[in-house]
Amino acid sequence: MRVAVIGAGAAGITAAYELAKGGAEVDVYEAGDAAGGLARTIDLWGQKVDLGPHRFFSNDLRVNKLWLEVVGQDYDMVDRLTRIYYKKRFFDYPLKPANALWNMGIFKAVRCVLSYFKEKIKPSFKEGQDETFESWVVGRFGRQLFDMFFKSYSEKLWGIRCDELDADFAAQRIKKFSLGEAIKSALGFGKSKHKTLVDQFAFPLEGTGVVYERMAKKVEELGGNVYLNTPVRRILHENKKVYGLELTTGETRRYDHVISTMPFTLLVKGLGDLPVDIEYAVDQLKFRNTVLVYLNVAGKDMFKDQWLYIHSPDLGTGRVTNFCNWVPQINGNSPNTILALEYWCYDEDAMWKGKDEDLIAQATKEMRSTGLIGDAEVLEGKVWRIKRCYPVYGRGYKQFLEPVVEHLKQYEGITPIGRYGSFKYNNQDHSILMGLLAAENLLHGTQHDLWQVNTDYSTYQESATITKTGLVRQGETEPMVLPRTTPLPLRNRTEKEEPVHA
Ligand SMILES: Cc1cc2nc3c(=O)[nH]c(=O)nc-3n(C[C@H](O)[C@H](O)[C@H](O)COP(=O)(O)OP(=O)(O)OC[C@H]3O[C@@H](n4cnc5c(N)ncnc54)[C@H](O)[C@@H]3O)c2cc1C
Repeated sequence: MRVAVIGAGAAGITAAYELAKGGAEVDVYEAGDAAGGLARTIDLWGQKVDLGPHRFFSNDLRVNKLWLEVVGQDYDMVDRLTRIYYKKRFFDYPLKPANALWNMGIFKAVRCVLSYFKEKIKPSFKEGQDETFESWVVGRFGRQLFDMFFKSYSEKLWGIRCDELDADFAAQRIKKFSLGEAIKSALGFGKSKHKTLVDQFAFPLEGTGVVYERMAKKVEELGGNVYLNTPVRRILHENKKVYGLELTTGETRRYDHVISTMPFTLLVKGLGDLPVDIEYAVDQLKFRNTVLVYLNVAGKDMFKDQWLYIHSPDLGTGRVTNFCNWVPQINGNSPNTILALEYWCYDEDAMWKGKDEDLIAQATKEMRSTGLIGDAEVLEGKVWRIKRCYPVYGRGYKQFLEPVVEHLKQYEGITPIGRYGSFKYNNQDHSILMGLLAAENLLHGTQHDLWQVNTDYSTYQESATITKTGLVRQGETEPMVLPRTTPLPLRNRTEKEEPVHA
């Protein structure tokens, strides 16, 4: 079987890696100049930085086994510190009662507790009422905590009001996490930690992207091809049976099957001859963009967090990453600190079209206003624009997504996976799992329903987490014995670093 994979991000390159190991003929087409997609690592000012914070975490035995197979021993455990900055105060996140109380003051804390119990006794939103992000969170945490810890951050991220945001976003990301669980965890009770609460994670010594660069290298060693800087325009089919793809150069290539991680909406539109209702539904599916502003700040030890969530409504940025606080290997011997400020916007927003120097000036001003960098000199800045990186779960988005998915299922020979590839708010682990399962379906004829990944797949798989000494099954203390693997060398990086999708 000849398989083409569109995109060398976590999902696509995992699928290609597994297919190549399984003996399939596989070619990967990547629009950017390196493997890794949103989870790639770039060289900047003599250091290695990711595209914003990239903490890998999974409970899934299959995903963790694969990650360790590729990373080998070249990782370290990082003690997580990721506080919330809200109105000049730093709240520990996961929330710790004493710290929250200290920061809020007794009156605000009492109001939070009262508003929590009010929701339990007399909910603001009736059961069965059309659930939105706001009603989901208020129902579980109370109005006061919603206003402090969810509202402004979510509105910055999505650019729409929380009552216009679908509850799916909360259900996928916050899941069964509740105030009770947070408090139990803070007091040291409870068996297993919710994903939102884990306090250590494994991080590769060369940055997140090394995982995907190594996979790309292995695909080539096994006889596959990874074509960088080679965007695909559309998938070719006859009577809904796929026979190949067309590159943006107009060149066509023949394949029996295409695994696609290109934006879902563009994939579907490229198929052509869409019924009017499907075309309309596709147009209702929106993506949000990210603008990352990197600042090279003179000096070290500005703050200890790997990243800070910025909930203060007066600041435009929503998250600040400090690359000095992951593993020292990525910093080289630099005496400076690289920070990345994240801003989110739509294509039509001024932010997306803004001049780099204005964005760098804004980011510098915002960092100064927090007091975190004092009067340290900002030596230089760099802007990195990422298009379509957040599928927007607007209220009722499923009524548009579902018919499009059903339409796509009529085509033989296409597997859409990945974050924007399947319009799912994936983390790396979800995308890796989608890649693994897509390859398994093709190699072994399994019938994994990939649309379920990131929704309820975690309920049936075996659970294990990565520790310093290896992979440990839930409930055990000794690491599992895994086959010995030799870590793969890196492919050569290209000198020129361009935005991935801009
Ligand atoms: C700022 C930020 C922070 C994040 N933080 C975390 C985190 O802490 N932990 C975590 O686990 N995850 C995090 N994520 C999510 C994680 O990056 C993604 O889930 C993961 O990288 C998605 O992989 P993917 O392969 O599905 O998609 P992508 O990474 O988007 O890969 C798709 C690839 O397809 C290529 N492509 C697109 N169109 C075409 C075309 N027409 N032809 C050829 N190639 C094409 C793209 O260039 C890209 O390389 C974060 C994401 C962002 C944006």
